[in-house]
Amino acid sequence: MIFQRRRGVRIMPIIGISGSILIDQGGIFPGYRRAYVNDDYVQAVIQAGGTPVILPVIGDLDLIREVVATLDGLILSGGHDVTTQLYGEEPRQKLGDTYPERDLFDMKLIEFAMARNIPILGICRGFQILNVYHGGSLYQDLSYADKELLKHVQGTRPELETHEVDLVEDSILFNLLNEKKVRVNSFHHQVVKSLGNSLVKTAVASDGVIEAFEHQSYPWLVGVQFHPEMMHRGHLLSKEIFKSFVTHSHKGK
Ligand code: MN
Repeated sequence: MIFQRRRGVRIMPIIGISGSILIDQGGIFPGYRRAYVNDDYVQAVIQAGGTPVILPVIGDLDLIREVVATLDGLILSGGHDVTTQLYGEEPRQKLGDTYPERDLFDMKLIEFAMARNIPILGICRGFQILNVYHGGSLYQDLSYADKELLKHVQGTRPELETHEVDLVEDSILFNLLNEKKVRVNSFHHQVVKSLGNSLVKTAVASDGVIEAFEHQSYPWLVGVQFHPEMMHRGHLLSKEIFKSFVTHSHKGK
């Protein structure tokens, strides 16, 4: 239906969404592995005018390079905690589930995408691995920060706006709405400890937690700790993030 409606209107940029593995816990194939992304990423890309493509986790470097060569923009999706060795730490008690093969896949996606200068949007885990890729580090759990932080793991309702963030003037995010304060959702138990090289923070919560950054010189690279894909239907900033990302992903840039 969507393709019929949109066919012939214009060429829509191809947006790759980094995938993950879902392992069946029951049903007729317990233990069966499925390649997937959350549907909200797909819907947010479509609403913004892009063509969504799911990128399954693969290990062959040449194949990853081939996949990235087909893309106009890259979304790094949420999920697992990043393997701590990638930022020089041993795993602590409250580290969540990790998936080292996915870390290597995502790191290569970033490397090959940056070699092509295509727009990159990192969300939650995607934000965290972009930070680690650039040499930054994470607190493995909120409770390991040096002070008590806000409630960053809200209990329910993916689209619900909970804590506020201050947007840094003249950043990509600030310029979308020209507003200094926005309320966002929050589903992360890890936070940035040190920010990676060449990254500039662009949204900060009242407890000092970095909620967004961009790259100081790359054409369009934005990381957000919150989940705009879950809020894109009714949250203006979220909608504008995807719109800006997809617009910059247009061919002929
Ligand atoms: Mn938060």
